[in-house]
Amino acid sequence: MLKEEINKLVRKNILSLNPYSSARDEFSGTEGIFLDANENPFGELNRYPDPHQKELKQKLSAIKNVPVENIFIGNGSDEVIDLTFRIFCNPGKDKALTFTPTYGMYEVSAEINDVELIKIPLTNAFQIDFDTLENYLDDENLKLIIICSPNNPTANSLENIPEVLQKFKGIVIVDEAYIDFSNSGSFLAKIDQYPNLIVMQTFSKAWGLAAARVGMSYSNDLIISFFNKIKPPYNVSDPNQKAALKALEDKVGFEKRKSIILDQRNWLQNQLDDLAVVIKIYPTDANFLLVEMTDANRIYNELVDQKVITRNRHTVVANCLRITVGSPEENQVLIKALKKV
Ligand code: PMP
Repeated sequence: MLKEEINKLVRKNILSLNPYSSARDEFSGTEGIFLDANENPFGELNRYPDPHQKELKQKLSAIKNVPVENIFIGNGSDEVIDLTFRIFCNPGKDKALTFTPTYGMYEVSAEINDVELIKIPLTNAFQIDFDTLENYLDDENLKLIIICSPNNPTANSLENIPEVLQKFKGIVIVDEAYIDFSNSGSFLAKIDQYPNLIVMQTFSKAWGLAAARVGMSYSNDLIISFFNKIKPPYNVSDPNQKAALKALEDKVGFEKRKSIILDQRNWLQNQLDDLAVVIKIYPTDANFLLVEMTDANRIYNELVDQKVITRNRHTVVANCLRITVGSPEENQVLIKALKKV
């Protein structure tokens, strides 16, 4: 597939769209008296933020080894998901596809955009079922495949993603929200190789900035130009850009906190393994564990009674709780509480 072929996948109204031009697009200098954006001259947060997050992108570019023009920053990766539907999927006509169980926002975002979402169940080993996938690949209304790897809530990394990228002539998102906790490599380095690839990452997990709402997509410059064309003008606030920049400047702290979480993940696995209420702990590449219990509904409620909140995933994987790896203190409270149920 050639990069230029991407234009054929983009909705016609987006191709022809005349994007909004903000005051900061029309004058990007930093010196002068700014009377062009109807801002209030008083206060600390009175000025609009940089609409293109230049400083943050430069820092990310250096850390991730990806050119600035291959980076888009959104108001959390949830915004990136929504924008992707809006670029490529005609409402009421086009389709997207994902592998379930997976992150619930793909379906909600598809519904909001009036896009049919085809859901192919993962195999028993929580991997892509290629036999079933083959039946859909030639549907010309199928524009988008979303792959979550490491997957939420199954916690494992998905194999054979390159096969999907090669066989499918539409867009493939690889959602790497949990990639920093994984031993599998990122697909970031492959955006030059596959013109239809969008890699999504976030500051919400390993970077510890869920409150700040900063998510990224990485792709070729053509796809990134469409994200920039349709995004709300000032989609990432100034405090949020600053929070992300500050986090990037503390790479040592990042590595330290990540290694505590990974150590705690091991500790939790060992502790859970010894409990009678635990049937199975699924292998994890993320900062959470999918744990099969003797009776997930009852144990979930008994944990809530002890003020320990896990995610009951019984309806998507029978009798499973999804348990986030917390701080050492939080994890000890969890194990104590589980011993009482
Ligand atoms: N992708 C996955 C797989 C997630 O689990 C989540 C949040 N739980 C998100 C994306 C959303 O990330 P953000 O906070 O950047 O919107």
